[in-house]
Amino acid sequence: MKIIDFLTVFFGKVMVKTLHLLKRDAGNAPGLVLWTLNKKCLRAFKVDCPIIAVTGTNGKTSVTNYLNNIFSQGDKHIITNRQGNNLDTGICSLLLNNCTMTGKVHADYLVLEVDESHVPVVFSQLKLETLVVLNFFRDQLDRNGEVETLILKVKKFLETYEGNLILNGDDPNTCRLGLANPNNKNVYYFSVDKYKYATEKLYEAGEGRFCPECGTALEYSYYQYSHVGDFHCPKCGFGNIKPYVQFKNVDLREPSFTVENDKYVTVNNSIYNMYNLAAVYTASKIYNIDKDIVRDCILNFRVNNGRMESFQYNNSTLTLNLAKNPVGANMTLRMLNEDENEKELLFVLNDNLADGHDVSWIWDINFTIFNNVTRVVTSGTRAYDIAVRIKNSGYDPEKIVVKPDLNDAVEFLFSISGRKYAIANYTAVQPTRTALKNFINGKAETV
Ligand SMILES: [Zn+2]
Repeated sequence: MKIIDFLTVFFGKVMVKTLHLLKRDAGNAPGLVLWTLNKKCLRAFKVDCPIIAVTGTNGKTSVTNYLNNIFSQGDKHIITNRQGNNLDTGICSLLLNNCTMTGKVHADYLVLEVDESHVPVVFSQLKLETLVVLNFFRDQLDRNGEVETLILKVKKFLETYEGNLILNGDDPNTCRLGLANPNNKNVYYFSVDKYKYATEKLYEAGEGRFCPECGTALEYSYYQYSHVGDFHCPKCGFGNIKPYVQFKNVDLREPSFTVENDKYVTVNNSIYNMYNLAAVYTASKIYNIDKDIVRDCILNFRVNNGRMESFQYNNSTLTLNLAKNPVGANMTLRMLNEDENEKELLFVLNDNLADGHDVSWIWDINFTIFNNVTRVVTSGTRAYDIAVRIKNSGYDPEKIVVKPDLNDAVEFLFSISGRKYAIANYTAVQPTRTALKNFINGKAETV
């Protein structure tokens, strides 16, 4: 370690301690300052435990929270960024908050959610033991660029990586990463067997239609959602992997699945949650975690935090789900459409820095099937854009109500009782939760 790295961490730690003494929440600021001063500062942390990282476009926060729940059982000490501060500066802040003055980080496990584009820089400096890659979808084009650029960046890092690599074997974009380093014997694929609503055709914008090895069009026997499904290359055989873990008998009604001849029941009824759980199960299996712990977590643990979170007000149930790209939004709409009852939709769209200012991704959302949706309320800084998008899909404009102020939108939504769904993008999800809670609690107090 260079003395300069040691000094930057020491300086950062003094900064954190001072902020604590002043009773100020240090937040992301110390990491940002340190990173600005020295982009190699992560080298100075001495972590004495395995580091498990989760990356991919959708599901990082959920999987990280599940792993944190499982790995912390039995009084294990976990350090994790469960709130999703997943950039290099966020991880730097997390370590600063949990290290000694000399940069020692002591825990049983570090479980980190890491933004895809930050994986190479963070783990060229910290020794990674296990990397989970969930999926790659088109996401925040103005910040991340095309998805192919991002995949190549991660692939380059993996060419010299020999740790555990847990990959979604049903997504060609992640499956291909297993070929990045032929010397790595620690590649584990997870897969989910065909479920009831799998389709023979691709109905949503998908990436990865061509074989990354030889460029031939991939052949699919079915799509689970977006471009995730059972594929192979007819020319070179890419995609013929042997899954280490495969979920079978997926039933979204109960919801449940079987794996290794055992049945598991869970709380979330979406196919993409099944994929998240398959990733969680795989990591738990590699680390020999007691199956009862895994079963209990799968049965009872809820991530909440705007991920399939339920809110109850009088006779109305609302399910809120974060969606920051077309695939995420399509998944919530799929769930909404699989519900035969009448329902309303609230869509909150912001265009702040963390969302990407470019909201053109909403045109890749599939609004053509709107099964029994009686009313749509739109809100957020781009409330009008999403209203226009939905109107353009052929939905009756008379049933679309624009309420840019979130509190107004929530109040209006609950002026009629009944089943409700809400979609909110990245910076919209927490304000939407707050508006929902304030409305529900405020009303409860006056009853
Ligand atoms: Zn091929």
